[in-house]
Amino acid sequence: MLATTLAGSLPKPDWLAEPEKLWARWRFTGEALTRAQERAAAEWIQHQEAAGIDIVTNGEQFRIHFVHGFLEKIEGIDWDRKTAMGIRDDRYTVQVSTVTGPVSRPLSVHLDEVRFSRARTERRLKFTLPGPMTICDTIADDHYGRRADMAMAFADILNNEARELAAAGVDVIQFDEPAFNVFMDDVKDWGIAALHRACEGLTCKTAVHICYGYGIDENLRWKDTLGSEWRQYEEIFPALNASRLDQVSLECAGSRVPLSLMGLLKHKDVMVGAVEVTPDKVEAPEEVAATIRAAMGHVDAERLFPCTNCGMVPIPYDIALGKIRSLAAGAALVRKHL
Ligand code: ZN
Repeated sequence: MLATTLAGSLPKPDWLAEPEKLWARWRFTGEALTRAQERAAAEWIQHQEAAGIDIVTNGEQFRIHFVHGFLEKIEGIDWDRKTAMGIRDDRYTVQVSTVTGPVSRPLSVHLDEVRFSRARTERRLKFTLPGPMTICDTIADDHYGRRADMAMAFADILNNEARELAAAGVDVIQFDEPAFNVFMDDVKDWGIAALHRACEGLTCKTAVHICYGYGIDENLRWKDTLGSEWRQYEEIFPALNASRLDQVSLECAGSRVPLSLMGLLKHKDVMVGAVEVTPDKVEAPEEVAATIRAAMGHVDAERLFPCTNCGMVPIPYDIALGKIRSLAAGAALVRKHL
């Protein structure tokens, strides 16, 4: 009951990559980089076990970015052909690479790191992959013509990847879809269908993470425009509740999402974000416990998984470590009084 887990990334130690940055450059190359990533992942797995996290991750220590860590091994993308794209519905404009032919996955992308991580823990292991819609909102298309068609092509290769990872012992595969609360109509038209294709045939638990993004300036400005109550999820939760996915991960601590919206996810496990991704403050276990208890007003305890709000890659290492300790301690406080 109330098994704890993480939404996604953890910070990289400063000997591996420049800290507190998205897209931080690696400090190693080639084999030395792989060994360093393994060491960083092993340390995070140990930290999670020592803290008491029940469903652990490798903290995404092997990828430079939550989308591009996957895309960099995919063929059909011209990395030098940059197209200006206003991503997340023009929240920020970025020069992105361009899909110029059919996409394919010549080799498994993450299998080696999953085997490494699986061998280092007896606990349940969770692994994150970018969702098809979010991939399509991160890369330009000069081949498929329709975003939905490109999403389905990526969903096919995500499915091949996910099947291999599940066969290697991953217990939960989560697709990250921060684009889901921006393109609500597309979610219903083809976003969930693309996730279904990505999950087809998987026997492990399947999850989707939706969120309002890292605490970076562009997102903070956008959040200021969303009003006092964030109700975007209200539009997509009924469709997610009817989907074939097992779990939904969302932020809850410090968010202006009305908790009652979680009541729309009656058929799902809900990973409730109970620590914020703020860079400067560690919540006390009592605060975490209060967030979990508030969520329990809308989600049955057996379907509730206390979790981090979002990826923590841009925040200081020690703060993130403090947060996972508080998360586990807060959940333990609630469990004691169940
Ligand atoms: Zn997130």
